[in-house]
Amino acid sequence: MDNCIFCKIASGKIPAKLVYEDQELIAFHDINPSAPVHFLIVPREHIPTLADSRDNHAELLGKMMLLAPKLATELGCGYTSEAGKSSGGFKSLINTGPDGGQEVYHLHMHVMGGSRPW
Ligand code: AMP
Ligand code: ZN
Repeated sequence: MDNCIFCKIASGKIPAKLVYEDQELIAFHDINPSAPVHFLIVPREHIPTLADSRDNHAELLGKMMLLAPKLATELGCGYTSEAGKSSGGFKSLINTGPDGGQEVYHLHMHVMGGSRPW
């Protein structure tokens, strides 16, 4: 999509602070973070919203979900539970449509974490 900022980041036309990339997904730090750690997981494919995803996107959506805790751990906000004591953790969020507060119409998952309060 010519006018999509996340397509431009995915194709390297505009820069971002990359966290991860593979053939299907990229992740980069949010330019306006709401938490000490705030990054976005974005499919390279231009899917406007979660509501536009289809059955053939099931594997891609699963990969986004599985990547969230891995990258959160790498960035220091992973969740741990040892000997009955849990710590760390993160919020993962997909905004959909105007009432969902979506601003960029290219599917993305926010991952936000870090010591509270934010
Ligand atoms: P949403 O409201 O879910 O569509 O969130 C869009 C997010 O993209 C916001 O948190 C923005 O701060 C973030 N954002 C917009 N442009 C950029 C950019 N060029 N690089 C990184 N994050 C961006
Ligand atoms: Zn796009």
